Amino acid sequence: GEDIRLQWSKAPCRFCGTGCGVMVGVKDGRVVATHGDMQAEVNRGLNCVKGYFLSKIMYGGDRLTQPLLRMKNGEFAKDGEFQPVSWDRAFDEMAKQWKRVLKEKGPEAVGMFGSGQWTIWEGYAASKLMRAGWRSNNLDPNARHCMASAAVAFIRTFGMDEPMGCYDDFEHADAFVLWGSNMAEMHPILWTRVTDRRLSHPHVRIATLSTYEHRTTDLSDMVSIFKPGTDLAIMNYIANYLIQTGAVNREFIDKHVNIRMANTDIGYGLRPDHTLEQRAQNAQNPQVSHPSTFEAYAKLMSEYTAERVSELSGVSKEQLEALAKLYADPKIKVMSLWTMGFNQHVRGVWANNMIYNLHLMTGKISEPGNGPFSLTGQPSACGTAREVGTFSHRLPADMQVANPEHRKYAEKIWKLPEGLLPAKPGYHAVQQDRMLNDGKLNAYWIMCNNNLQTAPNTEHETYPGYRNPANFIVVTDAYPTVTAMAADLILPAAMWVEKEGAYGNAERRTHFWHQLVNAPGDARSDLWQLMEFSKRFTTDEVWPADLLAKAPEYRGKTLFDVLFANGQVNQFPLAEIDPDYENREARHFGFYVQKGLFEEYAAFGRGHGHDLAPFDVYHEVRGLRWPVVDGKETRWRYREGFDPYVEKGTGVQFYGNPDKKANLVAAPYEPPAESPDPEYDMWLVTGRVLEHWHSGSMTLRVPELYKAFSGAVVFMHPDDAAKRGLRRGQEVKVVSRRGEIRSRIETRGRNRVPPGLIFVPFFDASQLINKVTLDATDPISKQTDFKKCAVKVLAV
Ligand code: SF4
Repeated sequence: GEDIRLQWSKAPCRFCGTGCGVMVGVKDGRVVATHGDMQAEVNRGLNCVKGYFLSKIMYGGDRLTQPLLRMKNGEFAKDGEFQPVSWDRAFDEMAKQWKRVLKEKGPEAVGMFGSGQWTIWEGYAASKLMRAGWRSNNLDPNARHCMASAAVAFIRTFGMDEPMGCYDDFEHADAFVLWGSNMAEMHPILWTRVTDRRLSHPHVRIATLSTYEHRTTDLSDMVSIFKPGTDLAIMNYIANYLIQTGAVNREFIDKHVNIRMANTDIGYGLRPDHTLEQRAQNAQNPQVSHPSTFEAYAKLMSEYTAERVSELSGVSKEQLEALAKLYADPKIKVMSLWTMGFNQHVRGVWANNMIYNLHLMTGKISEPGNGPFSLTGQPSACGTAREVGTFSHRLPADMQVANPEHRKYAEKIWKLPEGLLPAKPGYHAVQQDRMLNDGKLNAYWIMCNNNLQTAPNTEHETYPGYRNPANFIVVTDAYPTVTAMAADLILPAAMWVEKEGAYGNAERRTHFWHQLVNAPGDARSDLWQLMEFSKRFTTDEVWPADLLAKAPEYRGKTLFDVLFANGQVNQFPLAEIDPDYENREARHFGFYVQKGLFEEYAAFGRGHGHDLAPFDVYHEVRGLRWPVVDGKETRWRYREGFDPYVEKGTGVQFYGNPDKKANLVAAPYEPPAESPDPEYDMWLVTGRVLEHWHSGSMTLRVPELYKAFSGAVVFMHPDDAAKRGLRRGQEVKVVSRRGEIRSRIETRGRNRVPPGLIFVPFFDASQLINKVTLDATDPISKQTDFKKCAVKVLAV
């Protein structure tokens, strides 16, 4: 009979930041099954519906298998039709365009938009090529749209990025406070851990704050529906309650906390309000807070009385007080959780700061069951976007491009002449779109994201830049997304287990997988593409003569020679690859490229609180949480007994800051950048649904997931529908000052919105809701506010 046995291997799930482990079954070079990994601590054998159908994401009928270039009469033409070309032809054209732009305008006209879905070494290679090769910091990840506010606030407060706690907190907390997070749909497996705790321990409480009701509120004990943006006021009310009732842990504050006051004179990053110079200035401005006192903080908080905040937010005084008591009672261990509700906020950094303030004031931090925990959207938002440093202002291990010492450190590890790395932070995500639009960013490579569907105000701010005749746009993707179809050159990408990879999840867990199958046709990994393309440039073409004079040994060498076949990158031979697995990149380049890149990258963080284990260890285990010191992972950072960096006898040390104290940053409530008015009379909130991953480019190609939720709808309150004479299922237009889409009304179902608000998910490429959204950004983190703008809903 036929041999029906499958070869099973471990991998992390391809989708969300939860980072579930899956077992992947391969037969005849094809992934044919997946199931939850029983040995994975994160999910203990469970998967959500997306994880359950993972095996099908690579086999959509329209998978890209060849490079496609817009051509007319055998030549590249911006207005030409896509035609298949070889990799050589594709890279020839791309290199020609890159060199033209570099020669005419310099490094600031070159850019790249990457991803929190890149593997760790893909993000690292991209960062190295951009900063050290083309000498440009115009590299930003789509994580800018996702959790930049959390990342910035962690660094402002603790001097280091990422949560101090971990998922083990779920089994220790007495109360879970969900700030704008619909965990039941967005982090379903973590939600099973919350509900397990709740159902097996009757004293446990779940409090959910949201702008509408959903599957998470269905299972919550306390539900507070607030008006968009007023979460800031609610947190300040809780702070005021803690101060007024004597619930502040003064000993903890005195020992471990500095008080700072936010500067409020930095405006939102809205285009009409800002000249180019102002925007550039905002990007550089470090003066976002100044030293203050607890008394000044208490005075500011005293304005946030129950009466005022109840009126502002729409949450009753009783509900506000019940919420405050969870934080105030020293016997209740509290885990605060949030994702996009805080981060996609024009005051996202303040929102993050305010939640840390509550935990710092009560000392409920960095111990089992107590802590603020930022959930991430993408599988490697932490591992790649943040830890590797693919943001336009960052280097690996929380280092900053603007810091001369940090650049020097990177130049040493990368074996570069001193002064080579550019000091000026590059354009952030929304600014990149504006610069493309303005013709100031002209050679642009988009990898592993679908920005035309997921950026704000796409019709005016994103699409025109892609089609600007001055620009050459390259998109690397596995499927013909709306972004790919707006490009000049499409490069076919290998996905997930078609390459060896590493991700870092929301609890600082780094986890690896092997290449299990080959990508179809000519599709190649982003890593292969970055490294192969680097062979097209010599140092003489891209580095100034004075810098090259400091490193004569690099004269005439390619960027590949200098960046990827040099230093620590090419030190591991092919013989070190596990013979049970293919590794296309390594075999192509002739050395164990992933191992070399990882070990070089790890050198940035070892000894600096970001210690990673040796490469080979990660192929054996189900991930480890950094810092990993002497083979041991760290579950709770900054706490003696758990964190090896904390000195004996100190109890707690926030060692990311020089004085080992955290910064409590006081900030006021500020209204949203745009609110409903008589003409645009409703709030629009956007987000995801359980069945689809972000823009749906993978999950909509899985028949079961497509059928489960096949098209976006406008969730609307029945009274609002009746007022407008609209029936359930009726076609409508959703219109803002920026654009409009057509969709259908849904007055029932999983999301129950209050009057005056609609919710529209963004997964559906046939209804691009981001034509409607507002491109206002947090002035400190530059993250976009997708959670609130003003719209009207009209019958068609
Ligand atoms: Fe787990 Fe997220 Fe994958 Fe679902 S999508 S299986 S919750 S990692």
